[in-house]
Amino acid sequence: MQDYQAVLEYIAEAVEPSFGKGKVADYIPALARVPASKFGMAVQLPTGESFSVGDAAEPFSIQSISKLFVLELAMSHFGDMVWTRVGKEPSGDRFNSMIKLEMEHGVPRNPFINPGALATLDLLMGLKGDTKHRIRNFLRYLAMNDAVDVDETVMMSELGHSDLNRAMAHLMKSYGNVEMDVDTLLETYCFQCAMTMSCKDLALAGLPLATGGYSSVHDGTILSAAQAKRINAVMLTCGMYDSVGSFAYRVGVPAKSGVGGGILAVIPGKMSVAVWSPELDQFGNSYVGTAALEMFTSMTHTGIF
Ligand code: GLN
Repeated sequence: MQDYQAVLEYIAEAVEPSFGKGKVADYIPALARVPASKFGMAVQLPTGESFSVGDAAEPFSIQSISKLFVLELAMSHFGDMVWTRVGKEPSGDRFNSMIKLEMEHGVPRNPFINPGALATLDLLMGLKGDTKHRIRNFLRYLAMNDAVDVDETVMMSELGHSDLNRAMAHLMKSYGNVEMDVDTLLETYCFQCAMTMSCKDLALAGLPLATGGYSSVHDGTILSAAQAKRINAVMLTCGMYDSVGSFAYRVGVPAKSGVGGGILAVIPGKMSVAVWSPELDQFGNSYVGTAALEMFTSMTHTGIF
């Protein structure tokens, strides 16, 4: 079925029974205040056409989806050097687990688990200039929306509850895999996670990954084709943490989730799709969002397998 607007409207109704089965994240206190019933979904095509339903224009906390954009920035500045700081293997553990970090000498499994995102950000912070501005400007450019900004309340809320992430950063620093001051690194990490974007923003921001790094909608080359291919591969194998296998089985496309309830899915060569619903499954991925994406790729035959 190629009438994407009709598909989105069908899905928005079909997911109704799935509400109430997940749980809104509360380990970052400010996130617990978001209404559980929110649902939005947006599709962005390379032609510039877009489709959306529900709360698709409402900004929400992108959380770990920011790890994807920081990886893009790091890849575009440092190329394959990124892979000296983080691996590209699924961890099989929770996104905030540090159990393998000591055994593997402070080198995180991939850039999408928390320690991997901290190491990637640490690399990016080695560049001259203000990293927060760099990240915000990049997101504004990708979303083609200058209103994209940080939610200071969420940022400060996470910063006050970041002992685990701080512990990971210190452990990596002891192995020489973090160079920055840990406080500055944590503050910048909480900043990137607390950026707010809507499904429409995210779908636009994901488009260059679906189109080989160049986007005619943005009229620019954001990544090389090889980099886009590699980031999609790492998303497919690591983007959904320890449920990445069942996500590939159900949805069948590269995707990155965040505990704010967003998921950005890239359908290579075709489109980018973003969904938002704050209730999470036990792995920290949007419960309803995953179900919605499963319906989308099944109905439109756009899974990559
Ligand atoms: N800021 C969150 C954290 O560090 C991001 C986690 C996520 O979205 N999976 O725990």
